[in-house]
Amino acid sequence: MKKTTNEIRDMFLNFFVQKKHKIVQGSSLIPANDSTLLFTNAGMNQFKNIFLGKTTTDTLRIVTSQNCLRTGGKHNDLDNVGKTPYHHTFFEMLGNFSFGDYFKKKSIIYAWELLTSSKWFNLDKSKLIVTVHNNDDETYKLWLNLIKIPQHAIIKIGKSKNFENDCDNFWQMGQTGPCGPSTEIFFNPNHNINDTKKLITSEIITSEFIEIWNIVFIQFNRIQNKSLIPLTNLSVDTGMGLERIASVIQKVNSNYEIDLFQILIQKILSLTNINNPNIKSVRIISDHIRSSAFIILENVLPSNEKRGYVLRKIIRRAAQHGLKLNINKPFLYKLIPSLIQSMGHYATTLKINQNKIQNIIKTEEINFSNTLEKGLKQLQLNIKNIKNGTLNGKKIFYLHDTFGFPIDLVQDICQEKNIKTDIVGFKKEMKKQKKRSTSHNNFIIHDNNYFVTNYHSIFKGYTLKEISGNVQAIYKN
Ligand code: ATP
Ligand code: MG
Ligand code: MG
Ligand code: MG
Repeated sequence: MKKTTNEIRDMFLNFFVQKKHKIVQGSSLIPANDSTLLFTNAGMNQFKNIFLGKTTTDTLRIVTSQNCLRTGGKHNDLDNVGKTPYHHTFFEMLGNFSFGDYFKKKSIIYAWELLTSSKWFNLDKSKLIVTVHNNDDETYKLWLNLIKIPQHAIIKIGKSKNFENDCDNFWQMGQTGPCGPSTEIFFNPNHNINDTKKLITSEIITSEFIEIWNIVFIQFNRIQNKSLIPLTNLSVDTGMGLERIASVIQKVNSNYEIDLFQILIQKILSLTNINNPNIKSVRIISDHIRSSAFIILENVLPSNEKRGYVLRKIIRRAAQHGLKLNINKPFLYKLIPSLIQSMGHYATTLKINQNKIQNIIKTEEINFSNTLEKGLKQLQLNIKNIKNGTLNGKKIFYLHDTFGFPIDLVQDICQEKNIKTDIVGFKKEMKKQKKRSTSHNNFIIHDNNYFVTNYHSIFKGYTLKEISGNVQAIYKN
């Protein structure tokens, strides 16, 4: 019998309890008292002040399972979702922490035992490789001499001889805050270390290997002027993606094939005439419906700024991928019962909030389709008036900025009519817009592939009212 994702989470927690760690509840997706962060992006966030020595704790060893969201700032995986088999916007990060207790040696011993012992995850040692920071000889020697990983399976990463943020093996939470060199553990399902002997370079790691665990040795505080202040307490912060380790243990080809996604993905597929869970749009919808529901659980509503903006963007992006699968009506809200069934661990909380989640998502889907309709009319008008066979960048930007019209939809429609699209000109306009808005609001996130920078002209918002036990959206006109 395959271990379920829930069992894998429990094994992680239990392993560290046996190593004298205390289980602490993951924190809210919205970081408490931290203006540097929109959403929790790692297990260590809630312990930031302990790492910095601003708060003390008697509990020096902690283990958590933390819900994370990576949709902006330093850790933004929005564009990776769907493209790679292993990136989500919303995921669970398992982590063990030492606050001035054990450091490099013990954390490496623990990690290796959990991953490879037949009592625990029982992974094939010959399929694991590790990376260390170029300047971290101590960690390199621990892997080589203590754990006895072959030399060619330990990769040094980082250009500089100093601990600078020049590579994946220096982890930091954001532009400022606790940070330090890290050692990462990767799994390659297809080859063993000896097959890949010649292949291992830092470039190949991203494509061939799945990063399963990052062990960070917190030694510094990065301050505003970018300099690193050494911390008195040497601490450990680790993070392992639950969905990723589940895909490795369950021996499936992507996170989307683990048990946790099955009911949800089957429901999405049932609304289409395709049968492949790994199609990009299916992955994106299944990912985004999870993140939307969990953001709504934090009482965030779709809006034009900050967290609400992220929520709006995620819902609309998922709706847009529905269109790509020929789902032309609001449908995302119908996925919530399947999401609840899939996410057994959170079923009760989700169930209590089911009506609210569904109503908010449905309202946003309806808004989006109204927006699309208006944008489509404008696009058709533009196309009618085209003289030189190209839709210019300014017009594309207007559609995008005012109507939230997705760029790839503009391209698809123009292509059908043999009209070229001036994407270079569009990007120039986007850059100008970005400059304008970063001076107003640090949190508005723009990306070149997608949409939504400004809905003010159309969307006036809505309020939620409880009517006969159901939460309903009342539009403002
Ligand atoms: P990657 O290089 O794959 O983007 P990362 O180095 O950015 O990962 P870390 O910040 O080191 O990730 O996070 C710790 C662990 O959390 C990773 O080793 C991985 O197992 C998991 N993880 C990170 N980002 C994601 C994501 N977007 N979706 C699912 N799991 C993730
Ligand atoms: Mg990343
Ligand atoms: Mg990485
Ligand atoms: Mg990492």
